[in-house]
Amino acid sequence: MAKKRTYLILFGAQGSGKGTQARLLQDKLGVPQVATGDLFRMHLSQGTELGKLAKSYMDRGELVPDSVTVSMVEQRLAQPDAAKGAIMDGFPRNLAQAEALDALLEKWGTGISAAVYIRLERDELMKRITGRRTCKNCQAVYHVQFNPTKVDGVCDQCGGPVIQRADDADEAAVARRLDIYFEQTTPVIEYYRGKQVLKELDGSLDIDAVGKAMLAAIKPKPARKAAKKPLAKKVVKKASAKKFGLKRL
Ligand code: ADP
Ligand code: ADP
Ligand code: ZN
Repeated sequence: MAKKRTYLILFGAQGSGKGTQARLLQDKLGVPQVATGDLFRMHLSQGTELGKLAKSYMDRGELVPDSVTVSMVEQRLAQPDAAKGAIMDGFPRNLAQAEALDALLEKWGTGISAAVYIRLERDELMKRITGRRTCKNCQAVYHVQFNPTKVDGVCDQCGGPVIQRADDADEAAVARRLDIYFEQTTPVIEYYRGKQVLKELDGSLDIDAVGKAMLAAIKPKPARKAAKKPLAKKVVKKASAKKFGLKRL
């Protein structure tokens, strides 16, 4: 029998908070974040052939060709730490990638557990991206205004240098990335809506509130017993405590 795995896809334009939520979810779900942007940046900093190939696309804010991206993701998902699944952040970004992911998971006897779309207005996305700061060491994500480091320029988690990504500093390039996102990724979101696995969240809430809404959206619904009358409030509370693995509320 196929092993139970969790493959969660996070959608949302650049700046919507996918990376921030994916990092928080890793511990809760026990599966790693797989962020294609981070993987490409890692290849870039290590000077691999793949990194060299990806660089020109990344500099222009364009998508790296699908064949390269899909095989990089396949290799990543085959690593031992992803044996129970992964939180996909930044992939799939177009229909070809979505179909490739479906085919891969099918080959492994599994499929998508849920796809979550974090919605945010364009103005707000611009503010989020231009104020974003990233740890050069561990890729932790901060914001100059909304989520600053305790010490200016120093990562809270690893003490590494916190910098602005070059592609986040250029407003014209950011606008271009947003255009590409909405043009190419909107059909993918509709693809998952059609498969009835899509949940939508309001990304304008604070980090904590988005996290709570996310957990509520992705928890599998408990099998419903034929309830004759509406559940009393207390019963609902108890049921959700059980669902989240809490002992008592
Ligand atoms: P952003 O979401 O802000 O564009 P990412 O960190 O997700 O930034 O990605 C950085 C760059 O890496 C992208 O501009 C693109 O060139 C490349 N990239 C990331 N994910 C993909 C993908 N799924 N397909 C193709 N290229 C990608
Ligand atoms: P994405 O991965 O979707 O591009 P990030 O997780 O990198 O987005 O978040 C973009 C920026 O917005 C970061 O600077 C991050 O600290 C900040 N941020 C993320 N979520 C929130 C939120 N709910 N409220 C305010 N700022 C946020
Ligand atoms: Zn760090």
